[in-house]
Amino acid sequence: MTTPSTPATREPHDDRLRDLALARSGLDRVAQERMRPSAIDDLLGDPATRVVEVRGERLPVRAGNHGELTLRLRPPAEADRAGLGLHLGRGTDGTAYVGVLASEPAPDPEATATTGGPDTWLTLRQAGEALGARDAGLFTTALALANWHSTHRHCPRCGAETEPSQAGWVRRCVRDGSEHYPRTDPAVIMSVLDPDDRLLLGRGAHWPEGRFSVLAGFVEPGESFEAAVAREVAEEVGIRIDDARYLGNQPWPFPSSIMVGYVATTSETELRPDPAEIAEARWVTRAEYRALLSSKVIRTPSGISIAKRIIEHWLGSTVESVAGASVIDR
Ligand SMILES: [Zn+2]
Repeated sequence: MTTPSTPATREPHDDRLRDLALARSGLDRVAQERMRPSAIDDLLGDPATRVVEVRGERLPVRAGNHGELTLRLRPPAEADRAGLGLHLGRGTDGTAYVGVLASEPAPDPEATATTGGPDTWLTLRQAGEALGARDAGLFTTALALANWHSTHRHCPRCGAETEPSQAGWVRRCVRDGSEHYPRTDPAVIMSVLDPDDRLLLGRGAHWPEGRFSVLAGFVEPGESFEAAVAREVAEEVGIRIDDARYLGNQPWPFPSSIMVGYVATTSETELRPDPAEIAEARWVTRAEYRALLSSKVIRTPSGISIAKRIIEHWLGSTVESVAGASVIDR
């Protein structure tokens, strides 16, 4: 039996979030290359390889003339072999990128954050927006892997030590040989809109006065993203949603998440915040939101966060365009 050849039902227009700061990578992850036991040694022996050091949560960046940042990439050095090497992938021109987890501590951020020049070590929150797509991808991947290595030194099966393998993408138990892969913990983050198109804002239980954002929470085992959106909204502010529509996602390696964005709608407007999670919650119209930002009664998420982009998706403009807006320091 054939179906009529009517066009598929579509949204009036595709309004998904594009070019999220940490979702722009474009690197080829060349997973097959990681399998070769000598992969990192070979890459560190090739002067065409580009190396970036990772110290704690900081990578070295260089500032351009127009505020843009680039990672400080360099040819391999002999000392790199002492660190844990991560094959981060290849660029469109075939260049291979290796992250090296240095044993040296990160430089004092107070001493370096304001110096500028070639030895500025920044966090991803500081640098992410001003980096190009390739470097944002390198930083995000290197940080996610570094965070994972630092907390998975023992086997979850037997407790023995694990050691890195497959160019930094696997840890293997030295006793039972079991292989353990880097993990990513999904979290949903969502705007909630009422029948008058007002936005729900919440202030977390431990957030300072005036700091508001959209709701978010981790996806639980056995749960779909949409079910997690409905559960988190119900738990945090006591309302049922009618619908949840996907907006976009980006990795969020603080330490190991990916944020999956949704817009939810509800016909329930009476908020019952759970005091354990939410200090206050309120509905705002676009005009009220702009006024609250301008008068600095509330601050709004900024920088690389998907929360900022979800709010702007509803607001219809950037938060920076709201006169006097006070953004949350990252
Ligand atoms: Zn084991």
